Parts: sequence; C-alpha cells; structure tokens
Amino acid sequence: MTPVTPSRTMFEPDAETMPARQRAELQGERLRALVGRLLAAGGPQAALLRQANVTSGAGLRLADLPRLPMTAKQDLWDAYPFGMVTVPMSEVVAVHGSSGTGGRPTLVAYTKDDLKLWARMCARSLGCAGATAASIVHNAYGYGLFTGGLGIHQGAIELGATVVPVSGGMTSRQVTLVRDLRPDILTCTPSYALRLGEALAGPTTLRAGLFGAEPWTDELRAHIQELLGLRALDIYGLSEVIGPGVAAECYEAADGLHVNEDHFIVEAVDPASGEPVPDGTPGELVFTTVTKQALPLLRYRTGDIASLNREPCRCGRTLARMSKVIGRRDDMLVLSGVNVYPSEVERVLLAEPGLAPDYLLVVDKRAVPSRLICCCEFLTDGAGVLLGSVEQRLRDALGVRVRLEILPPGTVPRTEVGKAVRVVTWDGGEPPLPGL
Ligand SMILES: [Zn+2]
Repeated sequence: MTPVTPSRTMFEPDAETMPARQRAELQGERLRALVGRLLAAGGPQAALLRQANVTSGAGLRLADLPRLPMTAKQDLWDAYPFGMVTVPMSEVVAVHGSSGTGGRPTLVAYTKDDLKLWARMCARSLGCAGATAASIVHNAYGYGLFTGGLGIHQGAIELGATVVPVSGGMTSRQVTLVRDLRPDILTCTPSYALRLGEALAGPTTLRAGLFGAEPWTDELRAHIQELLGLRALDIYGLSEVIGPGVAAECYEAADGLHVNEDHFIVEAVDPASGEPVPDGTPGELVFTTVTKQALPLLRYRTGDIASLNREPCRCGRTLARMSKVIGRRDDMLVLSGVNVYPSEVERVLLAEPGLAPDYLLVVDKRAVPSRLICCCEFLTDGAGVLLGSVEQRLRDALGVRVRLEILPPGTVPRTEVGKAVRVVTWDGGEPPLPGL
C-alpha cells in the first residue's frame, strides 16, 4: 500500500472547505437563478417546469429540489443537436459528445464561461491528486469529441502545470515519454493504466494517477498501485454534466470522490421510484448544474449507481463524497432474477492473486435462463488457482452460479483506446472468444 502523504493542494480552498450551511445557501441561490434562466429560455426544460407548476425560480428552496422535474439522456436525444441549448448559438464556442444512439453522439455545448468553469473543476481534481503548478501531467485520455482528453488538458493548464497531450494508444511512444519527461501525474482510463503499467514494467516518477471514464473497483486500485507505484485515484464526470471534474478522490483519504457540489448539486435516488435514498445507500446519481450556461441541466439522471457520504474528510474538504460507481442502471445484468453488476464480478476476480486482471463476462443466452460465463487468464505463476473455489466465491458474492473459464494468456482482449468492453452476449453461433 502506498503511504499517505497529505498534499494540501486545493485549487479553490474557499469553495472546497466552505461550511455546509453556507454552501447550502449558495446552492439555493444558484438553483433559483437556474430555474429562472430555464423558464426564460423556453426550451424543453421550461415546459417540464411548467408541467410541474413551477412558473418562477423566486421562492424556491434547496429542499424543494426533489420535487422538481428530472431530465435524462432521452431528452438530449429528442432535442438533438441543439434543442436544449439555452443561450444564442453565437455564444456557443465548443461542442463535445459521448456515445449516443443510431450513430449520433449525445451532444453537449459550452460557452466561453462554461469552458472556464470546466477548466477550474479539472484543476480542482488535479489538486485533489496532489498536482501543483510544478507538476507534469501525462494525459493519456483520448482527445476529440470525448471530454476526457481536452477536459484534463484545460484543467492542467488552469493549474499552471505542464500537460503532455499524448492521448490514447501508441503505448511504446507513451513509455518513452514517461521515461524521458518524468511526469508525476498520470491521467487515463483505469484499463489503460493497466496496459501502460504492464508496458512500463518498472519504477517511474509517477506519484499519482486520476483514472476515470469507466467504473472500477478498490481491487483494481490495489493492482494499479502495485503495478505503477503511484497512488491511484478515481475521477468522475460525464459530458452531459460538464465532463471530467464533476468529482475526484483526494490523495489524503482516497475514500470517495469529492463532488464539486457548489456547481453540481448531487442527489442519489432509487432507480425505480426516483425517490431520494438515504446517505450511504446506493442509488442513481442525479445532478443539477446550477452555474453552467449553454446546456444547464435540471436533475439529470446519470444511470450511474453510487452512494453519498457527507461525513468530514481528513483532507479538509467539506464537499460531499460519492462512492465509486458500483454499476450502471443499464449494465445491470439480471440472471435468474438476481441483479448483478459487472463490478461485483471484478472485485472477486482481482482479489485472486493467480488470475490476470483482464476478464470478459459472457452472458450465455443460449441457455434459459441466461447463464454467466466469466472468462479470465492465469498469471504465469497462477497455476495454483482452484477453479472451484473462485466459482464458489463468485456465487457467494453475486447470489447466482457463474461458470469460470480459464483461457490461454492473451485470449481476453486488451484495451488500447477508449473504454474496456467487459460484457458480451452470446446468442448462438460462434463463441465470442476462441476456446470457449
Ligand atoms: Zn478528502
């Protein structure tokens, strides 16, 4: 385990350590202004507000938030490309997007002020990881429509650090740059951190990493920390809310991600009923962007499942913390009537020292009800792993029977660019992996 060294590198300490009551007042004020702006803009969200009999922002309190209407990805698709933008298009200076539907991305828009806000939020996240103006940030998130690369890029510049915009892929060149430029901060997806760590195969100058854009577990954290010799921290964001920089773990505690809730009010709700769940209980994360200009969103349902924690943190930040995302509402597999999140499988597999960290879950739909086949590989020295005992641990953790398949090294696909594919469906015909 990497030793804890407090970093005291808050980018905006006044906001990050603001007393809860004072922050709640600020949130209330900003919520009233947001509702006023949405109503004045007259778009789909104004219609939703009027349907809920909200005709003015004045008089609203923060406690009224749970009775305001929710928005979801479908609203953005229905309004594609710019129907939910609330400023004149002449004020929009950038667009980004994430995976959408029918070949079209989920598109989001930014004003100049939005980009400045985004840069500050990413600078806060880098500060959470202990980065300073003296840092060199090796940024291996993809650049482009995806928000990861350019978000962290602008944040590093805002912080005054030196950013290396290496983007994803071309791993041998990345190894050379890490060796030659001696960065202290690594930013990429956790699956790419694994890939890069395997390629680096030895000590580096990296001190901390901010890994996001995929859900990942504490077991994977331990693995990455050992492989790369750095402190592995989680960063969270989604383009609809702003991109990376919505929340990040602090170097000091690495125990939940501090949500920048002065700009993004967070709720956790029951995925089925939409009702708030108590702190500590997993629920679907819902964000209200109270200061964004081009595409402000009221109570946006993320589909991400996590719990909230408002206990004080030893880093001194008073911002609420969200747990790691434990799953997606949409990725949830239902096997024999039991809800299974792929991350729960990962937790069991990575706790097994003889197994390689790459895996693929195959939902075998040839059987009724569907069965789960978990494909993984031995490490070279992993011949002692007992299939039966791992299958039993999976069964204990998930509550359903899982078939474990150990395949020859290199069979499970690795991630070079973008997000890892962890789950595939087998409807019939050729098996999704050779040897199954
Ligand atoms: Zn903290």
